[in-house]
Amino acid sequence: DVRDMSRVYNFSAGPAALPLEVLEQIRHDIPDWQGSGMSVMEVSHRSKDFMAVAARAESTFRDLLGISSDYSVLFPQGGATLQMAMAPLNLTRKEDTVDYVITGSWGKKAANEAKKFCNVNIAADASDKNFTYIPAEVGWQRSDNAAYLHFTPNETIAGVEFHFVPAGDVPLVADMSSTILSRPIDVDRFGVIYAGAQKNIGPAGITVVIVRNDLLERVRPNNPHLMTWKAYAESDSMTNTPPTFAWYVADLVFQWLKAQGGIEAIAEVNQRKAAKLYKAIDESSFYSNPVAVDARSWMNVPFVLADAKLDAVFLEESLAAGLANLKGHRSVGGMRASIYNAVPEAAVDALIDFMADFENRKT
Ligand code: PMP
Repeated sequence: DVRDMSRVYNFSAGPAALPLEVLEQIRHDIPDWQGSGMSVMEVSHRSKDFMAVAARAESTFRDLLGISSDYSVLFPQGGATLQMAMAPLNLTRKEDTVDYVITGSWGKKAANEAKKFCNVNIAADASDKNFTYIPAEVGWQRSDNAAYLHFTPNETIAGVEFHFVPAGDVPLVADMSSTILSRPIDVDRFGVIYAGAQKNIGPAGITVVIVRNDLLERVRPNNPHLMTWKAYAESDSMTNTPPTFAWYVADLVFQWLKAQGGIEAIAEVNQRKAAKLYKAIDESSFYSNPVAVDARSWMNVPFVLADAKLDAVFLEESLAAGLANLKGHRSVGGMRASIYNAVPEAAVDALIDFMADFENRKT
């Protein structure tokens, strides 16, 4: 157990666990960053030293995911939620139609936002089974002339993940907030990928958008400058003062991930972590997960106890055992273990041991 004595295993859905090595680097850097006599928070975003951080963050992120020069990588503020508006504003006119596949609360939120700006066709919607599956692609009601198809590769709340990329030539717009950097992706299959940072990237306050360059030209005339992808692309995301501290931390997380062996290596760990947790849940008659086996998330694992009256004591005892933030989302109930990149395999092992022990004692 490599845990620092005062630290817990943190299963928060987001803002979520950061690697301890990154936190230690931050602590070291704060008073006197790179011998400057200042912290990184106290320097100009246009200073040579900060620009080097920004550039390294982007190039490392590009290397990690294998992003070609056909794509721009942007670092706006506003979280994934702002991108739910920026996607239609940057890709459509108001008479255009867009397709949305809804497999959870976040996709639904994205569709409702887009409805303010253009015609939204709901191509598929899994709310009929409480977002526990991904509707078969053959049954999707796609429009002939959609400007794009939006989907949420990982729904953070119900723990539903696409293990495939939808077919077709229409640009895919994907909210990857809770899956980005967890596994390899073929970026060339996508038009736009966006993600809030506060799961696998860094602290809240910065957002990552990967956009195919030709799509930058589709922006509406008179679109607000700070809601225009092209403005970020043309200014290296220095469109206005960027969230410099969050950007600096994201860079440290990217360096950490590279040191872990990159995406292929972390994906192997992530798959193993998820598989052993689902196995423990499935083999028990006390815990259950309702999600279709082929749509289970590697990052967010919700589970319920056979007796919901034990939820409070489960949370209390798990926290006492050093396992924090296991409470499920109110719309699902029960528990949720978010096991992002920075949650070590030992944390999952400790959770599984705790769950077995709890079950033994309570049944
Ligand atoms: N999409 C998904 C899949 C999310 O998990 C979240 C946050 N949990 C959001 C969007 C909203 O992100 P933000 O708070 O960064 O706007």
